[in-house]
Amino acid sequence: MDFELSDDQQRIRAVAREFADAELGDKIAPYDARHEFAWEIVKKLGPLGFLGVLVPEDYGGAGLDYVSYALIVEELNRGDASVGITMWAHNSLCTNHIALFGSPAQKQTYLPRLASGAVLGAWGLTEPGSGSDAAALRTRAVERDGAWVLNGTKAFITNASVGEIAVVLARTDAEKKSRGISAFILERGTPGFSAGTPYRKLGLHASDTAELVLEDARVPAANLLGARGAGFAQAMTVLEGGRIAMAAMAVGIAQAAVDQAVRYMKQRSAFGKTLAEFNGLQGMLADLVTEVEVARLLTLRAAWLKDEGRPAMHAAAMAKLFASETAMKAATQAVQIHGGAGYIAEFPVERIFRDAKLTEIGEGTSEIQRLVIAREILGFS
Ligand SMILES: Cc1cc2nc3c(=O)[nH]c(=O)nc-3n(C[C@H](O)[C@H](O)[C@H](O)COP(=O)(O)OP(=O)(O)OC[C@H]3O[C@@H](n4cnc5c(N)ncnc54)[C@H](O)[C@@H]3O)c2cc1C
Repeated sequence: MDFELSDDQQRIRAVAREFADAELGDKIAPYDARHEFAWEIVKKLGPLGFLGVLVPEDYGGAGLDYVSYALIVEELNRGDASVGITMWAHNSLCTNHIALFGSPAQKQTYLPRLASGAVLGAWGLTEPGSGSDAAALRTRAVERDGAWVLNGTKAFITNASVGEIAVVLARTDAEKKSRGISAFILERGTPGFSAGTPYRKLGLHASDTAELVLEDARVPAANLLGARGAGFAQAMTVLEGGRIAMAAMAVGIAQAAVDQAVRYMKQRSAFGKTLAEFNGLQGMLADLVTEVEVARLLTLRAAWLKDEGRPAMHAAAMAKLFASETAMKAATQAVQIHGGAGYIAEFPVERIFRDAKLTEIGEGTSEIQRLVIAREILGFS
C-alpha cells in the first residue's frame, strides 16, 4: 500500500493551490454578494488545463487521472465553491460524458472547445418532477425526418445559462423505463433550446444554476450520444466519477472551514486568552481535522479505484456521503467558533456555511448515497 502522491500529482496540486490562493477566496466574495457569475476568474481555468482535466491530450485536454482531478477539485473548492462547482459540472458531467461515450466525430467537434475553456458545458438529467428518481424523467425526444425533436424542461442545471454546449438526457421510448432514455448534445443557438433565468440560491451565488428548456428543439441525428436507449446507463457511469469529484469538492469546503476556524482561534481573545487556548475548542478542532482527513482518504481511494478501472460506485457513494456531511459539520462548527462574527457576511465562514449544503444534495442526496451503500452490502441489485 502506498499513500504517497506521485511527483506529478504533487506538482498539479501545488499549481491548483497557488491558483486558489491567488485568485479565489476573498476575490470571489464581491461576486457572491452580487450573485454574479465570476467570468473573469473562470476564464483563467482554461489555460491551466483545469477545464479539460480528464480529456485525452489528443483532444486538447490535460489527460490526467482521477486522483489528480480530485486534488485539483479539492484545492479549487478550498478557495471557492462557486468556481469549484462550475469547473466540476463542466469537467465531470458534460465534458466527461462526451469523452466517455462520444463518437470520434463528436469528440473532435466538442472536446477541444470544452477542454480549452473556449466554451463551458452543462449536463441536464434532473427535471422539475424527477431528481433522485432520475429514470422517471419526462423530457421526450422523437425522431422526425432524420432529426431528433426534443421537448421538456431540465431543472437545477449548473452552467445552464453560461454554457454553450449541453448534454441532455431524454426519453426516446415511452414503454421502457431506464432503457428508454438516450443522451443528446445540444448547442446554444439551437432554435427551441434556451436557459431560464438563474435561480436565487442559498449558496454558491457566483455559480450559474438555471433551467434548460426544450421546445421543439431540433438536433441532427448525429447529435445522439452513443446508442439509442443507452443514456441512463451512460449517466450512471458519469455520476460515478461525478460523485468522486463532488466528494473532493466537499473535502475542499471542509478544509476551508477548518482553515478559517484555525485563523480565528489564533486571533480572537476571551477571558484573557486566545480561543486557541481553550481545551473545548481544541477538541472540536481535532475531531474536525481528523474527519476531514478521513473524507480525503475515502475520496482519494475512490479516485484510485476509478484510475485502476475497478468498480467504484460503492466507494464513490461512501466518499461522497462522508465528505459532504463532514463539509456541513465543519462549516457549522467553524461558524460556531467565530461566534457572532460567523453569522456576518464579512467573514468567509458565512459563505462557506451556505455553500457546503449543496454537497449533501447535488449528485445524489445523502439518502440516495446511503441507499446505494446499503443495497450493495445487502446484495440487492
Ligand atoms: C445548485 C445545484 C446544482 C445542480 N446541478 C445539477 C446539474 O448540473 N445537472 C443535473 O442534472 N442536476 C443538478 N442538480 C440537481 C440535483 O442533482 C438534485 O437536486 C438532486 O439529485 C435531488 O433531486 P431533487 O431535488 O429532485 O430531490 P428529490 O428527489 O425530490 O428528493 C427530496 C428528498 O427526498 C429524499 N428521497 C428521495 N428518494 C428517496 C429514497 N428512495 N429514499 C430516501 N429518501 C429519498 C431525498 O434524499 C431528499 O431529501 C443540481 C442541484 C442544485 C441544488
